[in-house]
Amino acid sequence: MISPFDSFEAKGKRQILIKTLREKGIDRDEVLEAMNRVPRHSFMDNAFLHHAYQDKAFPIGAGQTISQPYTVAFQTMLLEVTRRSKVLEIGTGSGYQAAILAEMGARVYTIERQRELFLKAQSLLGSMGYNIHFFFGDGYEGKPHYGPYDAILVTAAAPEIPSALLEQLKTGGRLVVPVGKHDSQEMLRVVRKSEDNYETTRHGYFAFVPMLKGTVNGK
Ligand code: SAH
Repeated sequence: MISPFDSFEAKGKRQILIKTLREKGIDRDEVLEAMNRVPRHSFMDNAFLHHAYQDKAFPIGAGQTISQPYTVAFQTMLLEVTRRSKVLEIGTGSGYQAAILAEMGARVYTIERQRELFLKAQSLLGSMGYNIHFFFGDGYEGKPHYGPYDAILVTAAAPEIPSALLEQLKTGGRLVVPVGKHDSQEMLRVVRKSEDNYETTRHGYFAFVPMLKGTVNGK
């Protein structure tokens, strides 16, 4: 059965996108399968079907973007999510990345600092049937109340690794965060080896919108 959010045309375009992602080096089947199930066009204004299945970032309103599919796939691979993993996402945006994590069976907690986007994503993903915990707030603080987490994902460019997030990782937990200045950031993966020992690896350069402090109440 096809969901009311999807269409045969979109499914066809999505399969081509998945093939492109595989060619670009995304080799984790569970990531590609989750991306093949989520109708990305439903997360974009006016359902831009043509744009939705190109491997490009796209504006979602409030000066923000839905990340490029390759970036979503790459960050998701680095997180090593398994079923029942408890995952915290900073930067809900459109909610697309949160949906991918939920499709993989993770328990998802996601924070957005712009009220307009928080409300929109919460309502859309609710209507799509996802069981995700949405929070309006400043991701620099994380969400200690629901932690610690198996994985934490930052989908905005952080000037440095946010220390509160390191503290909210389980032992063995992974933090994936793009760190750097506005035009280019290095993707870092930090693994909490023990209570006070963290190991950082580097995974190439990306361009994200900035991670900003505080919240915006907007409309
Ligand atoms: N994961 C998103 C990508 C969103 S772009 C998606 O799948 O569509 C990054 C988002 O991070 C923006 O919506 C921006 O408002 C948000 N953001 C930036 N700084 C933040 C912070 N300190 N706390 C929470 N969200 C933040």
